[in-house]
Amino acid sequence: MISPVLPTYNRAALSFVSGQGAWLTEADGSRYLDLTAGIAVNALGHANPALVAALTEQAAKLWHVSNLYQIPQQTALAETLVAETFADTVFFTNSGTEAAELAIKMARKFWYEQGHPERVNILTFSGSFHGRSTGAISASGGEKMVKGFGPLLPGFVHLPFGDHDALRAAFDHTTAAVMVEPVQGEGGIRPLPDACLKGLRDLCDSTGTLMILDEVQCGMGRTGKLFAHEWAGITPDIMMVAKGIGGGFPLGAVLATERAASGMTAGSHGSTYGGNPLGCAVGLEVMKIIADPAFLADVNRKSALLRQKLEGLVAEYPDVFESVRGAGLMLGIKCVVLNTDVVKAGHVQHLLMVPAGDNVIRLLPPLNIPDEDISEAIARLGAVAQSLRTPPTA
Ligand SMILES: *Cc1c(COP(=O)(O)O)cnc(C)c1O
Repeated sequence: MISPVLPTYNRAALSFVSGQGAWLTEADGSRYLDLTAGIAVNALGHANPALVAALTEQAAKLWHVSNLYQIPQQTALAETLVAETFADTVFFTNSGTEAAELAIKMARKFWYEQGHPERVNILTFSGSFHGRSTGAISASGGEKMVKGFGPLLPGFVHLPFGDHDALRAAFDHTTAAVMVEPVQGEGGIRPLPDACLKGLRDLCDSTGTLMILDEVQCGMGRTGKLFAHEWAGITPDIMMVAKGIGGGFPLGAVLATERAASGMTAGSHGSTYGGNPLGCAVGLEVMKIIADPAFLADVNRKSALLRQKLEGLVAEYPDVFESVRGAGLMLGIKCVVLNTDVVKAGHVQHLLMVPAGDNVIRLLPPLNIPDEDISEAIARLGAVAQSLRTPPTA
């Protein structure tokens, strides 16, 4: 018999009743060290006092008003994002998927209004993940995501990750945009090297193509810069943001230059909940904390600490772990054993990690994880590796 909750997830037998920082607690009081942070969502830890205050203060005043009216919290958050990034304008959504939908619509509408209705195609990459709507699965094209859900949205050209010749050859008079994650998350923490991101920007510039960056997972301080593309010294035309920006409250955004957004006029897009006062009050507080250069410097310091210790574990357990990759506090360990076995062994050690593509486990701790919790995580991950070690042959 089907479960009352649609069984689209393979859930672990864990259920948490409260959280504090990097820790989650079950009803019986047992505590788990959380290196998933809700898959890069709880960027400032569970029950962060500043975020709880921002949410509850707003909740006592006003939850929701329609976008038919001015929403001061939304304006303030948009102004902050514009001040801190390449963007001239922002549209708020409730999720990353909805941000992907608008990014796709915006790119196509841009070329339509420019008098080039033939420029509709968007180049995307294997291993990418942009969400679960029909548009977003059509964009990434991953077999497991699209199988059985056709007909899909046309207008995507799927390219092999890292194949520069295929990429160059794919640009033609129908190309509207290229859509890419600076660091693939679900795909297995696969960073696009800075030189590739720069090369891609050059290709976009020479062909007029719009660059859409999906920073839903790698943005909001996750890589040690406010947004991951800053490492490469380039800027996109359109960027998708979600996950960390709400710190656990559902919030997403599309950021764009004035030019890229020029096709989006009154009536061309909308959202009932997008940019609601609750989400934006929390987002403002998140931005205030994460955009602080001192906070980002500390993310980089913690990253170096964690990474060095992970390299040590890889050296100590070469029969379990192969290598460490990623940036900031978006780190992946390529495994020798099955990554899902590592996640399960983690549960035994009360350590939470996320599997990803390419047999990788993802470590996405809160960006403010205390140093002692990093040490504790390494101790537990060592015990995980010990438990999975190939027994010596007699
Ligand atoms: C999670 C994710 C999305 C989808 O976001 P939802 O909020 O789940 O809709 C899109 N792109 C990337 C890179 C993601 O990691």
